[in-house]
Amino acid sequence: MEFKSREEIIEYQNKKLRCCVDYASKNSRFFKDTLKKCNLKADDIKNIDDLQKLPFTTKNDLRDNYPFGLMAVPMEDIVRFHASSGTTGKSTVVYYTKNDLDTWSNLMARVLATTGLTKKDSMQIIYNYGFFTGGFGFHYGAERLGVSVIPTGSGNTKKQIEIMRDFGTTSFTSTPSYAIYLGETVEEMKIDTKKDLKLKIGVFGAEPWGEGMRQRIEELFNINAYDNYGISELCGPGVAVECKEKDGLHVWEDHFIMEVIDPKTGEVLGEGERGELVFTPLWKEAMPLFRYRTKDISTIYEEKCNCGLPFRKIERLHGRSDDMLIIRGVNVFPSQIEEVILKNSAFKGHYAIIVERKGPLDHLTIEIEVTKDLFTGNLKDLIQLKDKVEEDLKSVLLVKANVKLVEEGTIPRSQGKAQRVIDKRNLEG
Ligand SMILES: [Zn+2]
Repeated sequence: MEFKSREEIIEYQNKKLRCCVDYASKNSRFFKDTLKKCNLKADDIKNIDDLQKLPFTTKNDLRDNYPFGLMAVPMEDIVRFHASSGTTGKSTVVYYTKNDLDTWSNLMARVLATTGLTKKDSMQIIYNYGFFTGGFGFHYGAERLGVSVIPTGSGNTKKQIEIMRDFGTTSFTSTPSYAIYLGETVEEMKIDTKKDLKLKIGVFGAEPWGEGMRQRIEELFNINAYDNYGISELCGPGVAVECKEKDGLHVWEDHFIMEVIDPKTGEVLGEGERGELVFTPLWKEAMPLFRYRTKDISTIYEEKCNCGLPFRKIERLHGRSDDMLIIRGVNVFPSQIEEVILKNSAFKGHYAIIVERKGPLDHLTIEIEVTKDLFTGNLKDLIQLKDKVEEDLKSVLLVKANVKLVEEGTIPRSQGKAQRVIDKRNLEG
């Protein structure tokens, strides 16, 4: 698929959108109801500008229609289910036809090819295979591209590293926080990444991570680390990926229409403005969605990328609107805290963010691990380091954070998505 200009992409999107609206208006009860409620007919949505006539679809819509209310094909055409963990309520279920899985595999193959992987490579998939979409998404994409799949799944850290060494694995995928834990275990096992391992590429996602964390992962493994993006409601991974420029993620705009909105008012924002990402997939049979609110915060880059891909890029994610903490009335993203921590070479990337309410005021405490040597060394150095980080955090967050330096190994390690934020205010009411 070759697109020569932005106009060609938009023309293609308009055509695909008309097909999707027509399809959903005939097959999806949920979409039929939406049109009725809005007094619209399928014909009223002719191009991407008309898309704004439609309301957003939210995670609550999926929950309210649990489990199969958004299904647009007979059950016999469904070949797969995935579901979100549902930590904050009923889980959300997504369904796929054979064609849906096929398209998803192609999108994931594109993701991996964009990072430079070829059929000469192998990929160790250190994601959980199950309701979570990460394991299967990478698995199918890698197979489609001809990459040799090593489906180790998550956990069993030392075994993962032995397999990397014995199989000569050239790439792997995991959460970024687990990659750091894995890298530290490589060091502990006295394995030389340059001599003993053949790794060259890592693809990470499923939680927000910044440039500091990228640098740390790249150093630990001597690889290029790329960010990718997707959410299960849209398919799973396979929506966007970084190219070799490592400056924003290309969105597959021939498969998704993207918008950025003000999360409070729902107003569509203009070029370069930061807000919540909203996607309309242009290919889904089992579960058509229109204007799905992701809660992920980013902005669209309009300028053309040096890599030559015709699709626009989004900024690396700042976190989810759900993750945003409001501390003494100030918006704080955990990713801002992480950036400050990882810029300081004294830290290895293990930290916890604790929010409490003492009396009328919110208190923010950041526990950060330091090496054993530093922890048991000169107290003056330790106090100096603490003061420095507190000062750096204050200048970025605009609220005071108390830093508590703890010995390495204190903060629990995660095998999947890291639980970095402990908000005790909710428990206290
Ligand atoms: Zn690019």
